[in-house]
Amino acid sequence: MAGRIGIIGGGPAGLMAAEAAAFTGAKVTVFEAMPTVGRKLLMAGKSGLNITHGEDHASFVSRYGATAARLGTALNSFDGQAVRDWCAGLGIETFVGSSGRVFPKAMKASPLLRAWLSRLAERGVEIRVRHRWVGFDGAALMFETPEGRRSETFDAVVLALGGASWPRLGSDAAWLPWLDDEGIAVAPFRPANCGFEVAWSPYFIERFAGAPIKAVVATSDAGSTPGEFVVTRHGVEGSLIYAHSAALRDRIEAGGQAELLLDLVPGRSAKRLVEDLKRQKAKDSFGNRLRKGAGLDGVKVALLRELVPDANVLPVEELAARIKALPLPLLRMRPIAEAISSAGGVEWTSVDEDFMLRGRPGMFVAGEMLDWEAPTGGYLLTACLGTGKQAGIAAAHYAANIGS
Ligand SMILES: Cc1cc2nc3c(=O)[nH]c(=O)nc-3n(C[C@H](O)[C@H](O)[C@H](O)COP(=O)(O)OP(=O)(O)OC[C@H]3O[C@@H](n4cnc5c(N)ncnc54)[C@H](O)[C@@H]3O)c2cc1C
Repeated sequence: MAGRIGIIGGGPAGLMAAEAAAFTGAKVTVFEAMPTVGRKLLMAGKSGLNITHGEDHASFVSRYGATAARLGTALNSFDGQAVRDWCAGLGIETFVGSSGRVFPKAMKASPLLRAWLSRLAERGVEIRVRHRWVGFDGAALMFETPEGRRSETFDAVVLALGGASWPRLGSDAAWLPWLDDEGIAVAPFRPANCGFEVAWSPYFIERFAGAPIKAVVATSDAGSTPGEFVVTRHGVEGSLIYAHSAALRDRIEAGGQAELLLDLVPGRSAKRLVEDLKRQKAKDSFGNRLRKGAGLDGVKVALLRELVPDANVLPVEELAARIKALPLPLLRMRPIAEAISSAGGVEWTSVDEDFMLRGRPGMFVAGEMLDWEAPTGGYLLTACLGTGKQAGIAAAHYAANIGS
């Protein structure tokens, strides 16, 4: 007989766990602390919902680094193509952008979430919002609800409470000590896909905060990546910074000096750059020589002057070398509340192959609250959906087999 499943957390991982469990015929209830579900998913859709990536499976899985092996089954059964098929099943057409990233045609998350919630309702999934899980009461789970404290028991539970970034959207990691008290190993949360602070001068902030720096190549311990980033009042952020953020964070946390080496003119060799700069008229301003000779726009010229104050008096060879490898020193990560995602969470030693807590049989974990990290590019949502699906199916099997 199908059992009663409680899903705690109504983000992508929890909703997918609910869908997968309901598909087996289980009676599924989702408990969500906030007044509505999927707030981070909707926020992700604000700048274009990058739901998965179109690259081949081996490259795709490699983006999860050391945790690829543990996420493997979830990603094998729910990879990029499966995410696209699932979207299509909800009536959401997707396309592969030039970088290989996959987006819904409408770019936003709201049509997808609407279609998903009506599918869940059709399958009998009940969603109780404003129900905040507040810890254990023996075998039961305690909730704060508009009607006061309630205790609930289930045949199986999936915890899908998210990570620790953007806590105002619901995932505030308040659960961490409750699991810790149960003897479940949880790694502290750290910012992932985050911005970094730079000691900009007041003039640079005033003039360039918000400006994009386009078409550069950045190099760190993570390798060399082309892309763009944004200057902020505090430092730098954007996709190119996120691509290096895990390596830079690890360096800072190890007490080392973190810096990105920027190539401001990736299409031009150092030799050609020297020749192009030498051809410029000496009477032209420094900015004009860089614009005409190196093709640098205003913000790149200002960045060069900000980081190399004596750039205008350097010999041409040295100037060209700086333009090709400009060190950008990074002071520290921006706070986790601003990060796109978080590293840390329930450790792999605490769960079995189906993400069931070894210390609490019948309780499964999915999504960003598990200890893995990945770059932006649709990898975050894909793993949340994949682990949610696997945990939901496993929870339904567990519930169905209780007592048999
Ligand atoms: C600005 C931004 C843009 C992003 N863009 C992308 C993107 O384009 N592509 C991509 O792949 N990823 C993106 N991400 C990351 C992605 O949104 C997350 O990785 C994903 O939402 C995590 O899913 P989840 O279900 O694990 O957790 P969440 O989405 O955080 O959901 C967890 C849910 O649990 C609820 N909850 C927490 N505690 C309790 C409790 N005690 N009781 C009951 N409910 C609780 C929360 O309210 C929340 O609804 C973005 C993130 C941000 C912040």
